[in-house]
Amino acid sequence: MQQSQLDGVVINKGIKLRYYKFTDVFKGFENVDAVKKLFGKDTKRILSKLKVMLFSSKWGYLWVDDRNMSIGCNYDYIKEADKRHVYLDVIHELMHIKQGMEGRKLFNDNFEYVDSPTELEAYREGVAEAKRIGMSDKEIIEYLKVDWVGERDFKRLLRALGMA
Ligand SMILES: [Zn+2]
Repeated sequence: MQQSQLDGVVINKGIKLRYYKFTDVFKGFENVDAVKKLFGKDTKRILSKLKVMLFSSKWGYLWVDDRNMSIGCNYDYIKEADKRHVYLDVIHELMHIKQGMEGRKLFNDNFEYVDSPTELEAYREGVAEAKRIGMSDKEIIEYLKVDWVGERDFKRLLRALGMA
């Protein structure tokens, strides 16, 4: 057998990923009406069991990992971003957690991102909450604009949300 040039190099695949408790990263959401509306009397219990996987990156925000129903979260983003944006992102992801608990498929290849029923539902909830906390239409549209959605899809999303 040929001597490998990678001799001595070990990729440690047994290492444990570092998850944090949702309630150690995001505090007070158990008292937010929009969250209580999602989980009812189980709100505290569900949030206390929820895990957040923090990572550090130039890119990315928050998302739900549907393999273990945890929330992935770019720590660099939440440190720098407008607090209202992070608040709305968390509500959006909690909506996905709820959808997952109901057995719904979060990632459906039959739909474009902006047409996905689970995304639209989460975005609608987010827009309603954004209005409730006093954000203007302009601020909401700015918040909704993300780098992975092109101009045409974004217009379609805004129309679907009654924001265009
Ligand atoms: Zn989403």
